[in-house]
Amino acid sequence: MENWNITWTDLLIVVAVWLAFGGIATAIGYYKKKLFQCLLCGFVLGPIGMIYAIVIPERHKNCPRCNHALDLYRITCPDCGYEFPAHQDPQTSAHS
Ligand SMILES: [Zn+2]
Repeated sequence: MENWNITWTDLLIVVAVWLAFGGIATAIGYYKKKLFQCLLCGFVLGPIGMIYAIVIPERHKNCPRCNHALDLYRITCPDCGYEFPAHQDPQTSAHS
């Protein structure tokens, strides 16, 4: 079946839809404070990038020193170099 007539109009529609996915991913990234990450994924991966932007966790912690928003898995702040305590457990009050 060699009956695929892809015209410039079709191509433009594909590009427009692709950019729309990128735009949505960027918007989600903006709200999740992962703007650059989502922008990149959205425009490079299109619909997959948009799904990525939806599923990535929006939870983050703020650096107590410079208030920079960090991913939860981070143990050091890339901005000021603050090191988070290895294990924070509020109920740990060991009486020795
Ligand atoms: Zn910091």
